Amino acid sequence: MSKANNPQLKSWVEVKPGSDFPIQNLPFGIFRTAETNARAGVAIGEYILDLAEIASAGLFNLSLEQKVSFSHPMLNPFIDMGKSTTNAVRARISDLLNSENSELRDNAELRAKALIKQSDAEMQKPLWILNYTDFYSSKEHATNVGIMFRDPANALLPNWKHLPVGYHGRASSIVVSGTPIHRPKGQTKADDAPMPSFGPSELLDFELEMGFITGKRTKLGTSISTAEAEDYIFGMVLFNDWSARDIQKWEYVPLGPFLAKNFGSTMSPWIVTMEALEPFRIESPTQEPEVLPYLKFEGKKNFDINLEVEIIPENGKGKTVSKSNFKYMYWNMAQQLAHHTSNGCNIQVGDLYASGTISGPTPDSYGSMLEISWQGKNPITMPDGTERKFILDNDTVVMKGYCEKDGVRIGFGECSGKILPAL
Ligand code: MN
Repeated sequence: MSKANNPQLKSWVEVKPGSDFPIQNLPFGIFRTAETNARAGVAIGEYILDLAEIASAGLFNLSLEQKVSFSHPMLNPFIDMGKSTTNAVRARISDLLNSENSELRDNAELRAKALIKQSDAEMQKPLWILNYTDFYSSKEHATNVGIMFRDPANALLPNWKHLPVGYHGRASSIVVSGTPIHRPKGQTKADDAPMPSFGPSELLDFELEMGFITGKRTKLGTSISTAEAEDYIFGMVLFNDWSARDIQKWEYVPLGPFLAKNFGSTMSPWIVTMEALEPFRIESPTQEPEVLPYLKFEGKKNFDINLEVEIIPENGKGKTVSKSNFKYMYWNMAQQLAHHTSNGCNIQVGDLYASGTISGPTPDSYGSMLEISWQGKNPITMPDGTERKFILDNDTVVMKGYCEKDGVRIGFGECSGKILPAL
């Protein structure tokens, strides 16, 4: 275990109880302020440590090329250096922020330049995302959807327990938390309508997901084993895969999701490293029937990450509509990546792979309004008395996630998006 994960560590930067960003986390992101261009930073308490300033002050033992990566408006060049370097940078940042280390603590001039209040900064999309894949790896979610759309007796399709089902999504429309999304328009057809029609989606939904980012590339034609897979994963984010259920229902046969999914997806701005998540490993659900040899794995490959979704109406009080957990995933990230490359498909630095909607076993842990309201049959009542079957214009959907153990809370910050009326 990295010594940067030691629960005893304390920072000289104030970290309030319940903060997502103690010294044991140190997630990477891209921020800008009124004075600075977009650049790399690390979250600590309510602050951001400006890595470009730390590098130019000579506090990192890195090459010039490596130091320059912190001034880049995307994290791709930093992540591309490989885990030995990125973990070493995290360890060095941990030292610099440690309450017992005076290098930065007692350098008032540098501290004033390098420590920025998060409230004074605007978070940017942290990556140039080259490819985006969305899996469908929660058994509870796939079962619920199968019951609603197909056959309750055969909710899971025959392939589902044999391979991590997924599809290639759209990278261009992934936005960072805080970016509003316009309600999509599209073609829909009600069951009793003779012809389809075109207009704003009436069944707009969120999907509670997490995404992982690859930090190492493969050559076309080669594959990654489940044992090697985690070495290719840099870190994780929260992910809202906005979905238009009415468009989806009409268009998805036979090739799967298309315009119902690609009008916008929201990612959280801070990438939590796999190293920071190491203490939160947990067993996966039992896989029965047994999977094929290339999907078998050893050890704990799942992670215990609490997740929640809140809907906030404009000028109204919010309501938490779901509390789920990443640990419910039937297929883990190592299996997803092994399967993805099993045919020789190459992966790149800065690819994003989303989990699929993460639903738990009970209705209060379902990861979409489709399931929570059960296709609109059970609307939820908001604090202002209005009802929600799906997401209305000017609603904001906020997702949060955190791990907690031994008094340490590793959080993901927020993944938030407001739905604006259709253009
Ligand atoms: Mn999805």
